[in-house]
Amino acid sequence: MGFLAGKRALIVGVATDRSIAWGIAQAMQREGAELAFSYANDRLKERVEPLAASVGSRLTMPLDVTSDEQIDAAFAQLQREWGHLDALVHAVAYAPREALTGGFVDSTSREASRIAHDVSSYSLTALARASRPLMQDRAGALLTLTYLGAIRSIPNYNVMGLAKASLEANVRFLAADLGPLGIRVNGISAGPVKTLAAAGITGFRRMLNRVAEVAPLRRNVTLENVGNAAAFLCSDLAAGITGEILYVDSGFSTVGMSFPAEAED
Ligand code: NAD
Repeated sequence: MGFLAGKRALIVGVATDRSIAWGIAQAMQREGAELAFSYANDRLKERVEPLAASVGSRLTMPLDVTSDEQIDAAFAQLQREWGHLDALVHAVAYAPREALTGGFVDSTSREASRIAHDVSSYSLTALARASRPLMQDRAGALLTLTYLGAIRSIPNYNVMGLAKASLEANVRFLAADLGPLGIRVNGISAGPVKTLAAAGITGFRRMLNRVAEVAPLRRNVTLENVGNAAAFLCSDLAAGITGEILYVDSGFSTVGMSFPAEAED
């Protein structure tokens, strides 16, 4: 029996079969979880429904995280269909493309900043609020995805780094607020993975190359690596962990200095 047997989870953030949320869904399904999926718009509905069906899920729903009405409707549907929720995976981020290229000062507009923080950070608070009644007395778990740009400057990541810093603070404040109800809140800081969202960041390929050159494991992380860590954090195996950011990045964030060429000698 898998370590998520009997758990029900909503996965927010599948766009394609390369999405980090899809890697997480596969790992959670393998460990016995029953899954529901949301999609951000009608175009993605056509992609998400067959993926959901392939892991035995028939529960899919529209959910644009910038819409309070859609959040209310999605959780009303979960309440009707399931009556409760054990885990929520939040793998959602967006900033206008022009904000993710060039110098930080020149590319960071008020509007790009507002959008990035609303979609990528505030949405976790909104989904946590909606999840709370469904997770009451159930040892619930919320999990989000963040990146090193929250705590270090990264070329072109720009305003998304600020939004991720906000998201990581969000994890800690939510953990403090919801902990007394038995709900845990954690984040995974994943190394770069080639996805749709990543394609919006100028120079993304160079980020992948850099990790493979410098990280202790000398390779990039896989969807499976992130998925397995996420399944663990959403499970009772992680019952004592909350307010935490877990790095799944081949160790890249731990390196202060590296001489890759000499290391080969
Ligand atoms: P992805 O493009 O597959 O997923 C991003 C998801 O965000 C999509 O499903 C998209 O529909 C959703 N989304 C955007 N705006 C939305 C809205 N208004 N309402 C609802 N959903 C919305 O890319 P991904 O890389 O799998 O991204 C998932 C998460 O992982 C993001 O938070 C991203 O920042 C984070 N992350 C990605 C990497 C990476 O290198 N790919 C590294 C670290 C963290």
